[in-house]
Amino acid sequence: MNQLALASSEEEYSPDDEGMRWPSASKLWLSEKCGYSFTTLTKWPDDPPGPAAKFGIAAGRCAELYVLGKEYSVANVAKENDILDRLEDLTNCDSDFRHILDCDQFEWRVPECFMAVHVETLDVRRADSHRDKRKGETLIGPDLVFKDLNGALWVRDWKCARKSDSHWTQEKAGAFAAQRLFGADECVLELVYWSKSGPLRLKETLDGFDLETIQAWFSQHMKRLPMMTEPTPGAHCHDGWCGARAICEAAPPAPRRYTKRKVA
Ligand code: SF4
Repeated sequence: MNQLALASSEEEYSPDDEGMRWPSASKLWLSEKCGYSFTTLTKWPDDPPGPAAKFGIAAGRCAELYVLGKEYSVANVAKENDILDRLEDLTNCDSDFRHILDCDQFEWRVPECFMAVHVETLDVRRADSHRDKRKGETLIGPDLVFKDLNGALWVRDWKCARKSDSHWTQEKAGAFAAQRLFGADECVLELVYWSKSGPLRLKETLDGFDLETIQAWFSQHMKRLPMMTEPTPGAHCHDGWCGARAICEAAPPAPRRYTKRKVA
């Protein structure tokens, strides 16, 4: 729970979400550091996914197709995502997914579990896709949610990038949304980092108290966000992949590691 300190704003919140770009789970960590790019004050430029993001999308697609029991070709997934130059990596990654998924013992499981969370009421509904978002909602979509045979809820994401605190914030948001949607007394978070040397699996178990604390943090953070009207630059501008970093005058120069191709 150390990454998620409770926000403590005493300011009055006016529930006006016109134009707010409520952060999805992957941007929550960034939005804690700087909320400026999520307010009405900025307009993001079109920023197509880079090579690392494309690899992550392709890898997640392979896992989804495998869970759904569909026939697929890794080469086709690589082609669709324009990463044919990394076909060998994707093939190895796919075989790691299959091994991990084959070890699961589950009552049910949902790949690409999109959940739309209303930022004020905290109502959660199943969404059809990452575009299925209504006014006042944000989207949280773990790669896989499943209930094991002991009744514990699991939220798992695969990552093809280097480790980051932002991934745990994302997982915890996934846990609170999944718990509200499916119900459970505890939730196991699992991050699986893929690299050429094989998967690294990191786990954390949350009890009911932890889940309530995350929910309170989420609610208070969303109330505070519209008031974060000044840019607050830092390493997070690039580490958190701020959508406004190319146009924000406060953004520091990109570190060298972001100007070179990332290796999964
Ligand atoms: S680039 Fe940095 S300072 Fe500017 S809006 Fe994004 S996070 Fe904030």
